[in-house]
Amino acid sequence: MIFAETIGIGDELLSGLTLNTNSVFIAQELEALGIMTRWQTTVGDDLDDIRDALDRALSRADVVTLTGGLGPTHDDMTKKALCNYFHVDLKFYPEILEKIKKRFERRGYKLPKINENQAEYPANAELLHNSAGSAQGMAFQVGEKVVYSMPGVPREMRAIMLEEIIPRLKDRTSTRVLRVRVHTTGVPESRLYESIHHIFRDKPDLKVAYLPKHTGVTIRLSLFAEDAKAGRSELDATVNQLRQLLPKAIYGVNEDTLPAVVGELLRQLNAKVTTAESCTGGLIANMLTDVSGSSDYFEAGYVTYANRVKHGVLDVPLEVLESEGAVSEATVKAMLSGALSISGADYAVAVSGIAGPTGGTEDKPVGMVYIGVGRKDDFTVKRFQFGQDRVMNKEMTAMAALNLLRLKLLADATQ
Ligand code: AMP
Ligand code: MG
Repeated sequence: MIFAETIGIGDELLSGLTLNTNSVFIAQELEALGIMTRWQTTVGDDLDDIRDALDRALSRADVVTLTGGLGPTHDDMTKKALCNYFHVDLKFYPEILEKIKKRFERRGYKLPKINENQAEYPANAELLHNSAGSAQGMAFQVGEKVVYSMPGVPREMRAIMLEEIIPRLKDRTSTRVLRVRVHTTGVPESRLYESIHHIFRDKPDLKVAYLPKHTGVTIRLSLFAEDAKAGRSELDATVNQLRQLLPKAIYGVNEDTLPAVVGELLRQLNAKVTTAESCTGGLIANMLTDVSGSSDYFEAGYVTYANRVKHGVLDVPLEVLESEGAVSEATVKAMLSGALSISGADYAVAVSGIAGPTGGTEDKPVGMVYIGVGRKDDFTVKRFQFGQDRVMNKEMTAMAALNLLRLKLLADATQ
């Protein structure tokens, strides 16, 4: 395995005024070549700091990239630091000075004096052509290792990276990175970790990242493989193992979305669905209809906020609303029946809860939601306790409802 370190140079990166997008780009491009970026360093425009960073990077990485600090102004220190580190002087390139002069003339300017130093480079540098600007890139061979220095301007860095550096690195390794993202919902990150981390033991080439959001955790697997075909089947086998360990939580991989997966199951069953929503305000219907072709299975969505409308439209009995309240198992069951009979759909989803942040009581705190799914005479209603944030509660409710529906459809599809 070949390891890389990126070094971003510039006071503006340290202060946060400029986002270090160069290291993102470089890491992605290197990874596509099978080179793993293990360290990303950022230093200011300081001679000693640049030299120290380079020294440390060369002590551990095989490929080191520097970006920034190559402008003509006095605060740009990279060339000085390189000369200092390699114990060489600057070498003047008259042909480069001519090129820079011409570049300026084409735009109707005379070359400012301070730009003349863009024709000087450390004597041991191999120059890398910059098709997007006047500062050249540089390559330094250090034994088996290699250092590349590029200007900080992202457009120029990209030009040198794509046109000069990647072609040079292409054949250094046969390793390739294969990725898969496995999407889960309804299980917190720490519990996911506990149930699956054992399968990653003794697999140093497989990197696992847990990417949590309030609507679910994505598990990203990256395999550094010598043989792409064998690697792909190893990844597929790992995903199957995960699906067996987490059949309820995992709803898809890569570009799969939960509403699309639900839609696919409805299509398989040749069934139609309807929604009866209170606290989500139509979000579930919205998510289902974000999927192209959803008219094949989506019949109708009812957003019944007021009790009067829950009764008037969905026929939820007034006695139930009075004795049990709108946020209750009995109300959600009645919403399911009502939606099924009015729409004529085969499956229904219904939700009722306290979205917050106001409106909670001791018995029914903010974030308490009843979610029901089912078909005629076969209802499942579950109580959930989410958090305090209104929009997050709506989104978590919608995901939980769609996942319950998915599990119901899956059970019916495999019967
Ligand atoms: P320099 O080569 O240091 O003169 O950088 C020129 C300009 O490129 C800076 O003013 C920044 O706006 C931008 N820049 C430098 N480093 C980075 C970086 N790592 N990511 C994104 N932009 C950068
Ligand atoms: Mg700079």
